[in-house]
Parts: sequence; C-alpha cells; structure tokens
Amino acid sequence: MTEQRDETGFSTRAIHLGIDPDPLTGAIAPPVFQTSTFLQDAVAQPRNGYEYARCANPTRDLLQRQVAGLEGGRHAFSVASGLAAEDLVLRAALRPGGHVVTGSDAYGGTFRLLEQVWGPWGISTSSTELGDPATLDAHLADLGEGVLVWVETPSNPFLQVVDLAACAEVCRRHGAVLVVDNTFASPYLQRPLSLGAHVVVHSATKYLAGHSDSVTGVVVVDDDELAQRIGFLQNAAGAVSGPMDAWLTIRGLKTLAVRMDRHCANAQVLAEWLVGHPAVSAVHYPGLPDHPGHEVAARQMSAFGGVVSFQLRGGRGSALAVAEATEVFLLAESLGGVESLVVHPGEMTHASVKGTPRAVPDDMLRLSVGIEDVEDLQADLDRALSTH
Ligand SMILES: *Cc1c(COP(=O)(O)O)cnc(C)c1O
Repeated sequence: MTEQRDETGFSTRAIHLGIDPDPLTGAIAPPVFQTSTFLQDAVAQPRNGYEYARCANPTRDLLQRQVAGLEGGRHAFSVASGLAAEDLVLRAALRPGGHVVTGSDAYGGTFRLLEQVWGPWGISTSSTELGDPATLDAHLADLGEGVLVWVETPSNPFLQVVDLAACAEVCRRHGAVLVVDNTFASPYLQRPLSLGAHVVVHSATKYLAGHSDSVTGVVVVDDDELAQRIGFLQNAAGAVSGPMDAWLTIRGLKTLAVRMDRHCANAQVLAEWLVGHPAVSAVHYPGLPDHPGHEVAARQMSAFGGVVSFQLRGGRGSALAVAEATEVFLLAESLGGVESLVVHPGEMTHASVKGTPRAVPDDMLRLSVGIEDVEDLQADLDRALSTH
C-alpha cells in the first residue's frame, strides 16, 4: 500500500489519515470489511482492485495507510502477528546464505525465529554490541554481502538503547539492511525511517492496538523495490491480518498519542520510585539519568516509553513472589495495553533462551506500565514489595 506523505500533526493523522466518513451513510467510524471475496463487474474486472481478501482488503488497506503515514514511510504491510511481520521481512530482504546481526537482547521469539526457523535454511546469526558504532563497524567488516542488522530499541527486557542514526550510517557504509523493531517505542516516540533505517517492524499487538484485544503485525518500508517484494510475499505466503484485527488496530491508533503520554508519565514516576526502594537492586529505564542509553534516548525519542524492568535484592524467590502478589499489575505476558502487566521474563517471555548466554537474570521483573492512576500502581507495587 502506498501513501502520500502528510504533514499534519501526529494525533491529527492518527485520527483522520485515510478515514473519510462513509459516502453512503455518513458513518464516522470506518466499516469492517468482513468479507473474503468481492463482486466483479465482468470477467477479471474487479472493482477498485479488490478481488480476494488475502490479496487486498479495504480495512487492512486503511490500517496500512495509517501506519505508513505515522512512521513516515511510503509502504506498509499488515500481517497476522509481530512475528509474521518479522518473518516477512527476513524472507524479503535475505537471500540463501544470508546473515543476520542482532544485539545481545531482543524479543525472545526473534531469536527463536532466526535460529530455529531460519537457521536450518542457511541463514546464520551473530550478536554484537549494537550500541557502539565502532564495534558494529568492525563486526560488519568481517562479514560479506547479504547482511541484515536487526535492532530493537529500547530492547526487551533490559531497555538498552541503540543510536539509530549512528547505526544506520555504519549499515549504509557496509551495504547492510537495517531493520528496527519499533514495538516498544511506537511511531509516536520514535521514527526509525527518518533516522536512516530501511525497515520498521511492529508487533501491533502491543502499543498500536493498545487494548490487549488483538494480535497483528506491520512492516513499513520506504524503498519501492523492497516494498514490491514484501507485497508479493504478503499475498504469496499469505499470513495477512484479518479485518477485525486490522480494525481494532485502527481504533487503537486514534488514541496512541494520549495513551503513550500517560504510559510514559506513569513509567517515569514508578522507575524513579523503584530506584529508592530497599527491596530493589537495579532499575532499567531509559528515562533515568544514569541509564547508559539515557542521552541517546533523549535525542531520538520524544519520551522514554512505558516498560520498566527491575531486579530484586531477594533474588529469584522474591521476584516470583512479587509477580504473584501484585493485584493491579496483572501477571500476564505481553505489553503495551492500557492495563498494567508484570512478567518474570526468565520464566515467561524469555523462557526459550533459558540456560543460554542470553538468559535473563532470574531476579528480574518487567513491568508494562498501564494508564491507570499512578498512585494505585505505586501502592500495588509497594504492597507486593514490602511483603517479600
Ligand atoms: C510481542 C513482540 C513481538 C512479537 O509480536 P507478536 O504480535 O506477539 O507476534 C516482537 N517484538 C517485540 C519487541 C515484541 O514485544
């Protein structure tokens, strides 16, 4: 899907971009085109290009136009999940024998996809310190052609920050494709394409949809040729998002800015408060001035996001007990919804890397700070922490 650039403000675009009241009824909300096929006026003459919903569906098209507009890219493709988006990018951008460079931490499913799904098909993977351009430069100099660099910033679960402009410059020098998983930041806080990335992927399941009620992924690119390959594969491999999931994401996008403002404000308050808590040994949040990525984050993001990780002095036992003791923070995987969630990454989201060098410390908890009243969130954590 291709869209013109639009220069209005973020929230105006999120609410109005591509959404015109229905010409027939005046309905303000866009319809859900829950159909698999479309009437043709004559043999091989579909109306407005719609013939079969895997190839194109108006609800999905609208979501794609919106996310493209918000990320500042020319093309977007919506698929069934964040991982389907990742898979689509890998298929489109790599060739047999290709290589993927990652940082030391990222979404656990990304490593599983690379190593257990793509590894056996001849795609190799290595990790390096993406936050240091000189290290990345040396790493890429040792690799040949066909390299893709996969960045998650802020990362999961350590909230490490990568300087995207510096990283893009190094990638460009070596002819590597730079892919940024922008799930944690959302386009409201950070727009990687404007900093030199080639591709943005989203688990739209998280902040974009924002209400923990759908699973969807989106890929955004500027390059026409890469977009053409991705578009071909979206249809040929077929992991498209369904119209209802696309619609829920469209609805979520309208409030992305106000939700993110509150997520960030609440997360900042809780991170600062956790730093001073006697049961807590470390807090990882880019909004803290002593976080190693604070300065870069302040430069490339408009705020620091809604995810906070912290470690407990009492070790694994305390971490598990606190995760089970909170009441407002619900014990559940995922993030980015209006409700606050807590996970023990070691046993939950990152269980697939347990026992490997990427294992997450077992005294760590990750909070997805929701948009409830921050006093209630703090009281909930305080109660859970004080009993363990
Ligand atoms: C959740 C998540 C994914 C995977 O997305 P799904 O929609 O669950 O497939 C990828 N990257 C990040 C950073 C995530 O948080």
